Amino acid sequence: MAGIDIPVNADSHEAGISEPVKPFMGPMVVDMRKEPGSTNFYFYQNTEGQVVFCLTPDPPVWGIDNRATSIFLPMIARRMIKIMPMLANLKVRRTWRGQYPNTPDGFPIIGKMKELDNFYQAVGMCGQGFMLGPGTAELLYRLMTDTYDPDDAEVLKSFDPYRDFKGQEMFK
Ligand SMILES: Cc1cc2nc3c(=O)[nH]c(=O)nc-3n(C[C@H](O)[C@H](O)[C@H](O)COP(=O)(O)OP(=O)(O)OC[C@H]3O[C@@H](n4cnc5c(N)ncnc54)[C@H](O)[C@@H]3O)c2cc1C
Repeated sequence: MAGIDIPVNADSHEAGISEPVKPFMGPMVVDMRKEPGSTNFYFYQNTEGQVVFCLTPDPPVWGIDNRATSIFLPMIARRMIKIMPMLANLKVRRTWRGQYPNTPDGFPIIGKMKELDNFYQAVGMCGQGFMLGPGTAELLYRLMTDTYDPDDAEVLKSFDPYRDFKGQEMFK
């Protein structure tokens, strides 16, 4: 964009949602173990009682094809029921596919660009864009108004658009 190369690539992930049922789950369940065809997966019950679930395919599926596959549901259903057998009785309402805007090191890119005047980036939120959105907006505001503090400067270091992208998220 604007003649600047941004190291963000579309990484396809599928998710699904069940019918609503009475609350029965506490915190979100995240399983970091690898199985054939997938790495980590997670599920949680939302405030409407629906169980939302998502899985990371292995190997990754790059690109912007949004068609749901027939592989996802049997794969994640098997993994979820293994952890919580009562989920076998749950009816799935729908599944969908979208993209994680992934960076090579799994961290977002947030900062002021040197190539253009007053051009800031806040991209590459990977699989955490909804969670990071509000904090990112506040951080950007402080960056743009030159009111950021030493803590912000520390955070911005890991998101620097000019870093070498050789690091990795700790849990990986
Ligand atoms: C199945 C699935 C489950 C997810 N679950 C979660 C979750 O539970 N929690 C969470 O925090 N995150 C989750 N995410 C990740 C989250 O969706 C992303 O991190 C977030 O959408 C990124 O927001 P964004 O605005 O940075 O990028 P995007 O949502 O990708 O928006 C970028 C926009 O820019 C447009 N665009 C691209 N190129 C150009 C161009 N050259 N000119 C103009 N416009 C352009 C695109 O069309 C798009 O509308 C999930 C993603 C998927 C696919």
